[in-house]
Amino acid sequence: MTYASDLIECAHCGSPITCERKTKMTKSGERDYVYYRCTQYHKGDHPRIRLTENELDSQMLAIFDTLRVEDVEFRDLFREQLRQATNWEFGEASKEDGHLKNRHTEVVRLQQQLLNLRLLEEIDADTFAHKARELRDEAATLRLEIERCDRGRDETIDIAVKAFELSQSLREKWLTADYAAKRRILEILCLNCSLDGVSLVTTMRKPFDLLAKGLVSKDSRGDCQSVEPRERLVDLYVEAMIEASGVHLDTVAELARECA
Ligand SMILES: [Zn+2]
Repeated sequence: MTYASDLIECAHCGSPITCERKTKMTKSGERDYVYYRCTQYHKGDHPRIRLTENELDSQMLAIFDTLRVEDVEFRDLFREQLRQATNWEFGEASKEDGHLKNRHTEVVRLQQQLLNLRLLEEIDADTFAHKARELRDEAATLRLEIERCDRGRDETIDIAVKAFELSQSLREKWLTADYAAKRRILEILCLNCSLDGVSLVTTMRKPFDLLAKGLVSKDSRGDCQSVEPRERLVDLYVEAMIEASGVHLDTVAELARECA
């Protein structure tokens, strides 16, 4: 029951969409049918809409297709730009990184200054040794912190590339995925999902929402549909990645690894 258990909300009344199993007699004997409908479907003038799993699947696959960048050349370029993006602005993390690097430069300058003072015999050997040790320890700590910041950035770049690869191959993944994998794909992609009449309406999570909006797409006639210049697309995608919450990114990374 891929779409049951509070995944989809009814756009008419806000109740959850549930799954119903019906057994029907056919020429070849009894057959089970699975329907999805609103839990309040029977009440008052609520629309009596029921959809099969196949109907929902084909709508979901059509939604996945909206994430695909059909222009192969542009898809490769985008992927390449993502991998090469080394100077991304990482918000707070980047500020911290900048602060650490400035302090490291300052510590190196102080070490030089201290040595000069000692050479000029402005300070005694003990004071020099004590202060030199202090500065050396601080420099070592700063180098570790800077390394940690860089690693965080490399990991985010890695997840960004994997999330993009995942978004480009959802149709294939879906067709071979088991129930648990399908649920995970839906939970990672969709912030929320509702059934409006017979139409499945989804709001995508970051950074997939950007792809869904068609910012990174070209139509079949080859006209660029982007509302932003192409050079900005990688930046926008990266911003979306950074805005996405940590836990969400961890899950994206996990799924991307499984699907790789
Ligand atoms: Zn309803």
